[in-house]
Amino acid sequence: MNYISTRGAAPVLDFGQTMLTGLARDGGLYVPAEVPQMTHAQIAGLAGQRYEDAALRIMRPFIDDSFDDAELLRLIETAYAGFGHAARAPLKQLAPGHFLQELFHGPTLAFKDFAMQLIGQLFQAALARSGERVTIVGATSGDTGSAAIEAFRGLANVDVFILFPQGRVSDVQRRQMTTPADANVHAIAVEGDFDTCQRLLKDMFNDFAFRDRVSLAGVNSINWARVLAQVVYYFTAAVSLGAPHRPVSFTVPTGNFGDIFAGSIARAMGLPIERLVIATNQNDILHRCLTTGEYRTEAVLPSISPSMDIQVSSNFERALFHAYDGDAGAVAQLMDELRSTGRFTVSQGALQGLRALYASGRVGEDETRATIARTLAATGELLCPHSAVGVAVAEAHLAANPGTVPMVTLATAHPAKFPDAVEAASGIRPALPPRMAGLFDRKERMTNMADDRAALQALILERTGH
Ligand SMILES: *Cc1c(COP(=O)(O)O)cnc(C)c1O
Repeated sequence: MNYISTRGAAPVLDFGQTMLTGLARDGGLYVPAEVPQMTHAQIAGLAGQRYEDAALRIMRPFIDDSFDDAELLRLIETAYAGFGHAARAPLKQLAPGHFLQELFHGPTLAFKDFAMQLIGQLFQAALARSGERVTIVGATSGDTGSAAIEAFRGLANVDVFILFPQGRVSDVQRRQMTTPADANVHAIAVEGDFDTCQRLLKDMFNDFAFRDRVSLAGVNSINWARVLAQVVYYFTAAVSLGAPHRPVSFTVPTGNFGDIFAGSIARAMGLPIERLVIATNQNDILHRCLTTGEYRTEAVLPSISPSMDIQVSSNFERALFHAYDGDAGAVAQLMDELRSTGRFTVSQGALQGLRALYASGRVGEDETRATIARTLAATGELLCPHSAVGVAVAEAHLAANPGTVPMVTLATAHPAKFPDAVEAASGIRPALPPRMAGLFDRKERMTNMADDRAALQALILERTGH
């Protein structure tokens, strides 16, 4: 399988190289040169399968010879063995025609574990084979960082540095990043917001001398292997609800567009997805873009769903690449414009393409809180604020499109990851699962940093001994 950059000026890579590289050298994102197809019969054959077996069948054609079947299945099984639910991604019904897929049963209680636990295993296997050592640097609005640290802590061939916005992550998120005692884990609190962290990260990747010196590898949601791991649960949910014989729609709480983009890959492979509904909080750049055609960044407003407090939505570039029919020159131009002016306008043709696949909605803070309370009363399900944004947008979509296909809303985090917001909305303080007891007793360890790339690079060189 060949992977190409959305900006068309980086080397073509295979799966293993794409995974270890992260961001393409032209600043673009890697996408498969063509999307493998699954037939009706192959999709139907996923019914009743274990999550791990379904994952092997769905991901296999994207992974070429980097891993053989037996090894890949073993890595998948190891990745999901620590999940707290045998179904891995169970479905619950909220109302007639509306389902919730719980993606928060992994070790750090957010959907990020699905991808991160798997790429931890894939990295370890690939690096053990080549004897290489890499430096992983990630930027996080909270959940990616904890998931990455949990997946890579203690691994022999990896140092992991995680940048998070100081004071803008929940106590549980911060403690998940700062309490692991492993020497290869480095949690860095940056003065600024998530976009500051993401920009620092991208600038380090674009400093090729530094990048090569420390063998920089990226595990942000721009890493193709992460997107791929997330394709799997779209299939398992849809097949449970009658696919390929019956179409389904999904509503996805969205920030960096990685999760929902995985849904578009599932659809491109042949899964009958009618609509992918983008759910945003008050940081609604994607909803505004779908509505007006103009992608325009504004200041990030802190919200009770902090993992979606994002203005520059990195993976949207992949959706644009598809909407522009693979015209990498056009995508590169839009991204240049974004960097110099903070905005761009999507062409009419591309906007039509986006609207054929994606719908969108935005939810303010009060409505998010009201949705947590309302859903608890109606169903007994206690939602995290991100999942509540999804449920509110899905309900609006269902009300505006009655009698359509079943809707699956992705529940992206466990409520106990955001206990203050959930308690304020519902009166109930969600407890951490027993396997996470002790998180608040452990010692924290982190480094504070200004928004200063030179200082950050110096720290990385020193800690990795380069
Ligand atoms: C990361 C995250 C999101 C947003 O996912 P993207 O792939 O960035 O769109 C939503 N909810 C939670 C809880 C998250 O951790």
